[in-house]
Amino acid sequence: MPAATTKPRSPTPAAPRRDPRLDAIREHALAGRRLTIDQGRTLLTTPDIWTVCEIANTVRQRLTPGIAYYNINRHLNYSNICALSCKFCEFYRKRGDEGAYERSLDEIRAEARKAFDAGATEMHIVGGLHPYLPFSYYTEMLSAIRETAPSIHLKAFTAVEIVHLTKIARQFKADDRTAGIRWVLTQLKDAGLGSLPGGGAEVFDDRVHDEAYKGKIRSDVWLDVHRVAHELGLNTNATILYGHIESREERLTHMDMLRRAQDEALTRLNYTPDDTGAITLTTAGTPLPTPSKELGAGGYFQTIIPLPFFPDGCEIEHLPGPTGLENLRTLAVARLMLDNFPHVKAFWIMQSLKMAQLMLQCGADDIDGTVVWYDITKLSGATTHQETSVDDLRRAIIEAGFEPVERDTLYRPVLRDSKNWTIAPTR
Ligand code: SF4
Repeated sequence: MPAATTKPRSPTPAAPRRDPRLDAIREHALAGRRLTIDQGRTLLTTPDIWTVCEIANTVRQRLTPGIAYYNINRHLNYSNICALSCKFCEFYRKRGDEGAYERSLDEIRAEARKAFDAGATEMHIVGGLHPYLPFSYYTEMLSAIRETAPSIHLKAFTAVEIVHLTKIARQFKADDRTAGIRWVLTQLKDAGLGSLPGGGAEVFDDRVHDEAYKGKIRSDVWLDVHRVAHELGLNTNATILYGHIESREERLTHMDMLRRAQDEALTRLNYTPDDTGAITLTTAGTPLPTPSKELGAGGYFQTIIPLPFFPDGCEIEHLPGPTGLENLRTLAVARLMLDNFPHVKAFWIMQSLKMAQLMLQCGADDIDGTVVWYDITKLSGATTHQETSVDDLRRAIIEAGFEPVERDTLYRPVLRDSKNWTIAPTR
């Protein structure tokens, strides 16, 4: 790997002084106008991180005033066997490796039963790109969970897995890749798929792709999967995995590509773009998109989830990973640049619950859920058993100054009565 791309980035010195350039950016953002890439560059490089966070918090309060979301969920990793070997990944194993696993349908039913008994409203299901499991395994997995726990929303499969499934199902067509994607998503939706998580996006840049996760799909294919999902009425999410070999400029490009894709999705939902084609939900009075009552119906990006790179145990572990302040800044900039994403998630599993509290004041309005098992990327020293209680999540949110609201996967408030729950009318 060339030294130039792996050398730790020089930190931006913190300084107590206010950066006057941020005044114009604040005015621009609060007027509901789209920030330019140049303004994004200023936000990502200014030493005045706290003002960046304060502007992001003001915008976040406009979108979801006074509340912060959490959910009761369970993660299911059906297999860690993967045909690829991404440099930042410590999750994957090859078949026969120590620790390699694939869950049987009986094990999956048992997990669904446990999730149901715990009152979960969501199962988040992802795995490696298993080279041998047949396509029927995936539809049967969804159907089995659906039969065992019909009330649980199935948020499953990253765009990378969806493209892998087009090959497993022999539906991959190089000259018309969206046809195969549409076929796979339709089969999965019929089997119970409710929405897509946002993983596998990493950083939309060919240089970073070729160096750190060559073999994974490129940005255009990732965006195609989400576009087709939106066209089928599925809501999806998006991530950015930052703090490794990418530059800050490349983070900005990633955010810009996502907001353009969301412009397209919202245009399909009858939002009116301005004369530059932009749709900003941050304009005062603009309603957030709401899912229809039918499970899974919608067709837009719900949430941006900034994910920090963790060096432990992967091929590029010599890199330092982002600092706490860089995490706050990246989240705040995501809130400001992605002006058409309704929600920003501080994913506590990767950020820690303590950091997530701070992030609620820097642009995030969601801290995800109770989780239990998380096998993908962990805080240093964490085990795969990572569980927090509803009380802990609510206490963290209240301490951060917000009213905790339990949501379902589609951001509809959940009303609970003992072990039963229902969806409240959309706020
Ligand atoms: S990041 Fe995903 S695709 Fe890459 S090696 Fe890990 S499990 Fe496989």
